[in-house]
Amino acid sequence: MASETRHAVPALPSGRLEEQFPEHAPLLSPAAAAVEASRCLYCFEAPCIAACPTGIDVPRFIKKIATGNLDGSARTILESNLLGYSCARVCPVEVLCVGACVYNHWGQRPIAIGRLQRYATERVVSGGRRVLAAKPRRPGRVALVGGGPASLACAGTLALDGVETVIYERARWGGGLNTLGIAPYKMSAADALVEVAFVQSLGVRLETGVDVGEDVAVDSLLSTFDAVFLGIGLGGDSRLRVPGEAGPGVVGATALIERVKHDPGFVVAPGTRALVVGGGNTAIDAARELSKLGARATIVYRRRREQMPGYEHEVRHALDEGVALLTERAPVAVVRSGEQVTALRVAPARDGIPEPGPETDIAADLIVVAIGQARLAEFVARFPGVTLDARARIMVDPATGRTGHPRVYAGGDGVNGGKEVVNAVAEGRDAARAILAALSHRG
Ligand code: SF4
Repeated sequence: MASETRHAVPALPSGRLEEQFPEHAPLLSPAAAAVEASRCLYCFEAPCIAACPTGIDVPRFIKKIATGNLDGSARTILESNLLGYSCARVCPVEVLCVGACVYNHWGQRPIAIGRLQRYATERVVSGGRRVLAAKPRRPGRVALVGGGPASLACAGTLALDGVETVIYERARWGGGLNTLGIAPYKMSAADALVEVAFVQSLGVRLETGVDVGEDVAVDSLLSTFDAVFLGIGLGGDSRLRVPGEAGPGVVGATALIERVKHDPGFVVAPGTRALVVGGGNTAIDAARELSKLGARATIVYRRRREQMPGYEHEVRHALDEGVALLTERAPVAVVRSGEQVTALRVAPARDGIPEPGPETDIAADLIVVAIGQARLAEFVARFPGVTLDARARIMVDPATGRTGHPRVYAGGDGVNGGKEVVNAVAEGRDAARAILAALSHRG
C-alpha cells in the first residue's frame, strides 16, 4: 500500500531565464492519459522494452494506467529506472522506445510513451507518494562521488536494499547535469531537484559543496567505505583554442545552459547575434535555447549536416524554430573590437579539416563553444588501479561497472564519454547490483 511522504526540495532563486520557457510536453490530463494508454497493443516481446536502456516494462506500466492503477504503474517504471521522472522528460524517445513502437510500421502515430511515463511518475515523485519500500538496514557502506544521474540511480538502488550510502557532490545542488545542464524547455532545474529529493527519501544521504580530493581525502573514502562509485561525469567545456577566444562574449555551452538555469542576473538581449560552434545535441540545445530567448542563433559546424552527431529530429526542430545552420566552416579566430566580440573568423572545411581558401568573418555578439567537455583524468588518477582508455574514459567491466580497483565502480558520462541520462541510470543501477553481490559475497 502506498503512503505519502513529502521530501524537502531546496528553493532556487527567482528571476532565472529558464522560468521563461514553457514546458514543451506538459503533463497529460487524466482523460488524455487514459485515451493514450488504451491505444497500446501490449505487444508480446514488445520492441519498446528492448529499446529502453533501462528495460522498463512499457506495456505493463501503460496497462496499469489504463486500469487506473497509477501507483502500480509508477512502481513498474521506478523498479527499472529510479529516475523515470526525469527520463520521461529528457529521453530522446524518438530514437528509443517511441521510435521502436510497432505503430511506426503502419504509418500511425506511435504511443506517447514518454508522456505516459511522466503522467505515471508525477504523483509519486513530486507528490510524495511512497510506492517503493526499502529493506531493513544491512551491513555495508558505499560512497558515491558526484551527484548526477548515475550516482543517484546507484545510491537509490543500494539504499532500497538497506545499504548505507553517501553521495559527495561538489556543486551546491544535487542532480548533476539534470539540474545544471538540461535545456530548460525539456526540464527545469526545479523539477530535477524534486527528483533528487525523491532519491534522498529512499534513504540516500547527499552532501553538497564537498570536493572529494580536497574536503574528503580519497584514501579516507577507500578506507572507511566498503565500495566507492565514481559518477563524476565530464569536466568543463572544451575550448576552441583559436586566437581571441579568451575574454567576455565566448562561453562554453554547458556553462551557458547553467547560467540560463541558475543565474538570476544573466540576460540575453533580444536580437543578440549568437553563434554556436559544434554539431552535437548540446550545440543544438544551446542554439534552440538562445533562439527561444530572442537571439538570432546560428550553428556553425565543420562537417556536412548529415554528419552532425546531434539527433536529426533535434536539428529539424532547431531549424523549424528559426535557428540557422552553417556547415563546412572551421573557426580560426575570434575577432574583437577592444573587449567586445564582433565576429567569428572561419575557414572553409572538408571533413572537419580547414582547407586553404578565403576566410570569412561571421558577425557575432556571443560565441558559444559546444565541442565537448574535457575529461577528469587528473582526478581519476587519485584512485589507485582506476585506469582510462585512449579517449580518457574510465575503464570498467561493462557487466558490473567495476574498475581496475576491486572496490571502485564507475558509470555515467565519465565511463561512456557522454551519453543520455537513461544510459547513466542503467550504468549506475547495474553497478549497484554488482556492489550488492560483492557485499553479500563478503558477508
Ligand atoms: Fe504499446 Fe507500442 Fe510498446 Fe507495442 S510497441 S507495447 S503498442 S508502446
